[in-house]
This record gives sequence, C-alpha cells and structure tokens, in this order.
Amino acid sequence: MPARGPGSRRTPPRRGRPASGRSRVGPAFWDIDLPPERFRRLGYRTVDQLATYYASLRRRPILPRASPSAIRDVFDEPLPRRGMDPFRVLDLWSRVVVPNSAHLGSPRFFGYVHGSGLQVAALADALAAGQNPNVADSRISPAESAIEAQVIRWLATMIGYPASCGGLLVSGGMAANHTALQVALRARAPYDSAREGLQSRRRRGRFTVYVAEYEGHVTIPRAADLLNLGRDAVRPVPIRDDFTMDAQALRRIVRADRSAGAIPFCAVGQAGTINVGAVDPLAAIAKVCRAENLWFHLDAAVGAFGAALPELRPRYAGLARADSVTLDPHKWLYLPKECGGLLVKDEALLRSAFGMEAAYLERQDLRRTAPKNYRSLGPQSSRGFRALKVWMALKQLGVDGYCRLFRQNLACTAHLDRRVRGDPDFEAFHEPTLYIYSFRYVPHDLRGAGYVPGLGVTTEQYLARLNRALVEEANRGGEVFLTTTRLRETTALRVSICNHRTTIDDTERLFRLLKRTGQRVDHALRGPGTRAHTSSRRAGGA
Ligand SMILES: *Cc1c(COP(=O)(O)O)cnc(C)c1O
Repeated sequence: MPARGPGSRRTPPRRGRPASGRSRVGPAFWDIDLPPERFRRLGYRTVDQLATYYASLRRRPILPRASPSAIRDVFDEPLPRRGMDPFRVLDLWSRVVVPNSAHLGSPRFFGYVHGSGLQVAALADALAAGQNPNVADSRISPAESAIEAQVIRWLATMIGYPASCGGLLVSGGMAANHTALQVALRARAPYDSAREGLQSRRRRGRFTVYVAEYEGHVTIPRAADLLNLGRDAVRPVPIRDDFTMDAQALRRIVRADRSAGAIPFCAVGQAGTINVGAVDPLAAIAKVCRAENLWFHLDAAVGAFGAALPELRPRYAGLARADSVTLDPHKWLYLPKECGGLLVKDEALLRSAFGMEAAYLERQDLRRTAPKNYRSLGPQSSRGFRALKVWMALKQLGVDGYCRLFRQNLACTAHLDRRVRGDPDFEAFHEPTLYIYSFRYVPHDLRGAGYVPGLGVTTEQYLARLNRALVEEANRGGEVFLTTTRLRETTALRVSICNHRTTIDDTERLFRLLKRTGQRVDHALRGPGTRAHTSSRRAGGA
C-alpha cells in the first residue's frame, strides 16, 4: 500500500467529460453520475484497494505508528472549495486513511468486542448504499422491509426465540438496550407513560431496573439516563462465583425496593457478559420476572449466537421467555458496523411505544399481518438498509457455516485457558464459556505474598500495575491488541476472540508474547535480581 503523503498518481483520462465549454464550471459537475464504463473502472479500483487491504491484515501492525497529533495534522485541511476527480478521491482511502488507522479486523485484535467484518457483508453495504432506499415505510421499501422482517425471524430462529416475535435492526447494542427499556417502561408503567411521561400525579416513586453487579453492561445505566430515569434507577444484583446473577437476590431486592415505594419495572439478564462471557441463569430470572410482574430484557449483544450451537443450547434455557432480546450482528455474526438488533416478543408493544403519525405520513395499517412500517417500530425516522448485509451473510454461510466459525473461536479461548492454567506465571478466573476470556499475569514468586519486597505496595496493587503495564507494552509492538478490565475489584487481562480470521496459532502467539512481555515488564518494575527470569518453573522466588 503506498505510504501517506501528497498524491502523485496520474488522473485517468476524462472520458465522461462533455465536449462543450461547460467544463469550465469545474470537475465536480461532470463527474457526478459517471457513464457506466467509467463507473465500473472506479468501482474496480475501489475493490482493488479492498482486496489489497484484506490481504495485508495479517501482517499489518494493529495501531498506526504516527502520533495522534500527527494524524490530526494529516486531516487538518480547509473545507474544499473546488472539486476533485473521483478516482483520486477514492484512492485517498489507501493513501491516507488506512496508514493512519487501527486495524480491528486483524486476526490478533483481541480488544473490546469487534465483529471482524465479512467481505460479502462489506460489499452488501456498498450495494445497499448504491440502492439507497428508505426502510421506514413498506410502501416505498417493499423488498427491503420484507427482508428486514425475514432477517429478524431468522435471527430469532437461530437462537431459539419464537419466530413470531417482532423486532428491528438498530445501530448497535446500546441503541437496542435503549429501545428495549423504552418499550419495557411503556409496557409496565402503572399509568399511561406515553402521555404522562415520568411526571404522573397519580403515581409517585422511582422506576427501577435490575442488572448484575460488576458484570452489568455500561449501556444499561446509560439507557436509564437517556430515558431520564437516572443512573441510580439501575439496581445492582449480586453475582455468584461464576459471575452470573444471583436470581434469589434479585427477588429479594425487588421486593424490598417495592416495599420502599419504588416501581420495579424491568430486570436485565445477560447472555455473554462483557468481562467473562458469562450466561446468567435465564430460566430463574424469567421466573422472578413473572412472579414480580417485571419486563424480562435479555442483553445478549455478546453471546446470543452461542445459542445456535447445540452443545451450548442448555446454558441458554429460559431465553425464549425473555420479553425482549438485544443481539448484535456486528459482534458475533462478524458483520461490519453498524448493525445491532432487538427482538420483542409482542410486536404490538413496539408499535405502541414508537408509533408515529404526521399529516404527510400515510395512516398506519395496524393489522398484525400488515407490511411493517419500521419507522413506527423503533426510534429512527429515515432508515438505511442494514438488513441486506445480515441477509447476505446468513445466505453465504448458513447456520452451519456460522457454527463452524463459533467453534473455531471457542477452541481459541479453550486453548488460552489451558495455557493459562498450565503456566505458573498466570492465573485463571473463570471457565471459558464463550469467546471472552479474562486472566492475569502473576509472577510465580509473588503468589500468596501479601507485599512486594522492596516496593512497599501490596501484591494486589503491584499486580494491577504490572498487568496494565504489560498490556501497554504488548500493544505497543503492534502484533496484538488487548485491554485490561476489572473482575470484581481485580485488574485482569481481557481477550475477546470475535474474529473469523483468528486461529489457534494466533492465540498461541498472543500467549507467548504476553509471557515474554510479562517477564520483561516485571523485571523493569521490580528491578533486576528479584526473581529467576531464566526459568518459568516454581524455583522458590526471590
Ligand atoms: C457491546 C455490548 C453492548 C453495546 O453494544 P454496541 O453495539 O457497542 O452499541 C451492550 N451490551 C453488551 C452486553 C455488549 O457486549
């Protein structure tokens, strides 16, 4: 790929240019809608860039070498006054965008939760944008709305949720959780909250929503905030040793809150928590929700699709009893952003939360079998054609193809778990349930020690510092990328393997690099002579 810098590439011949003197109005005019031949060449050249990019992903450093300020300078230009040839415009992607970007599709990008980006879906996005429909009203998006409805049924079927559900695609898990809590509030508020909002005179008391302590995803309090319920409306429920919600504690807290005047309306279970990929006891939560008249929302942005694997299905028992499910195709379906999804068992509730009437919008057809007008089923008005990439990816891979990729990811976390448990310098915290695995580096001579000799800090303080420094150092090399997180109060290394390109070999490389880097960073922080670095065996330590 050419290095960044000013362009020297020759502009191709301008065949589409009209012969008349109108050319004087500038290039922006004669290059807007190209004649087919020229557009083809423009498209081929764009695809050439992508092909080169995909082929380079495995060897490319994940983070750019340039500093953030140098990168800002690259793009610090005045608003263009004169136009530019579209060939040169599109070439800017490989010339200046790619060299200054991070490459999250790399097989050794282990950060956050990032769907690695299927090629067919990237091209589907281009086709969807080329067609440029508005999937708001089925009259003007007949095929597109039908495809979205079909995709929702497929996603439900794939995870064992009733295909009679409603639902829609949104920008991501955040938007899905926000939408779900809105529907839950409408459905469970003891008065007409669509009209009175949170300010009913007839019923006072704080609306409350419940999610696991520590492992609850940050988007739940954020959604509560966006709904003006306040972040304190989210009540933490204690977790058990395996990081899953304690459903009995949920019942106790809900009852106590209600006696204290609160209005509990929703409990959020999770399938795939963000730190360890834990699956909450969904059937037990469903039971509490039914007994306490709570909406049961399942945030399965990370882990929903694990339910497609027959060997994992039993863990998801109770999933079908959720009133709504968040699931992110741009995570474990490996789709390019943005694409989140929300399933709602009773579609009429979506419509009553988001129905929209205006003089210029045709009257809603409220029959259950009516074609869907998606603007009335969710928070957006104009809507893009996200469904196309989901539809095409599912057609290309089929559920079987996806299951193969899921098992490949799970084999990688299992491999990492085996390596961690077999090495005296690492500590495991949990079973590798899904594709997220958290653990930490613990120099073997510090095991069981309360203090670090010579540093005057507790071992826990030192290990937190050591593991954070280890990640900084490992990421600096560009060969891998991962993050730290906290498990309860303990700082841990967090590895997320949500990438169809990642192999066992990539995972092994990660492990070795962490081991080498851990020794080096520990040595630098504690000074030489604190431990025997030549041997990884338990040798009595300092
Ligand atoms: C990623 C995630 C979200 C947020 O999803 P976005 O797609 O980033 O908006 C919500 N909940 C859970 C459990 C997640 O993992």
